[in-house]
Amino acid sequence: EECRAIFSQAIGENRTYLMEHECKEILENMGIATTGYLVAGSEDEAVEMSNTLGYPVVLKIVSPDVVHKTDSGGVKLNLTSEDGVRSAYREIVGAFKYQHIIGVAVQRMAVPGVEAIIGVTRDPNFGPVLMFGLGGIFVEVLKDVTFRVLPVTPRDIDEMIQEIKGYPLLKGYRGQAVDLDALKALLLKISELVLTFPEIRELDLNPVFLYPQGNMAVDARMFVS
Ligand code: ADP
Ligand code: MG
Repeated sequence: EECRAIFSQAIGENRTYLMEHECKEILENMGIATTGYLVAGSEDEAVEMSNTLGYPVVLKIVSPDVVHKTDSGGVKLNLTSEDGVRSAYREIVGAFKYQHIIGVAVQRMAVPGVEAIIGVTRDPNFGPVLMFGLGGIFVEVLKDVTFRVLPVTPRDIDEMIQEIKGYPLLKGYRGQAVDLDALKALLLKISELVLTFPEIRELDLNPVFLYPQGNMAVDARMFVS
């Protein structure tokens, strides 16, 4: 229900792009761990939120016009103090002063993990297609990604994970490097989400951090219609 409301609002406003905080609220609703979806409307509010979350925190631009946040100076990582939060807030607002700004997202700084990407697109012939791969050079240089048409079975998910070139990195050589059960559960939840909501035309989690226990969606965007 909460998810539907977010989709309806965007579609009602003639938006096809769902901002990170909207996507993360939807993901949290599906039981997927994220860095949170708080949005501050003022510098003081950003500080209050940071104090509540605990440091370090991350500040990010929230705007329906900004799809690639880092490119334009919209992401400030690893802020360790109230002063850091204040100056980051001002820098972000300054960098986007000629754009429509909703606010500034205040998030927990995620502990580093193995970086993965998960995506869904809708193919005109095959319908929704799930993509999974490892982030960084694995996707950029090696194009190390794998695809399946939805719906998928748990077995399909196993195969996806095992067939990427980076699989040894996930498996580790002595015991598991990342929580494969949690990764499988995440891929299944994303499939379920896209099958439940035909509004989702495209979904992109980039990156997701994979841990020895659990995982965390660090960035998310969707296109809806
Ligand atoms: P973009 O819109 O540019 O893709 P992201 O939200 O992905 O913006 O942020 C860029 C990068 O900053 C991410 O790939 C990730 O490495 C890092 N990052 C972003 N948010 C967090 C966070 N909450 N905790 C830790 N690292 C983060
Ligand atoms: Mg990103």
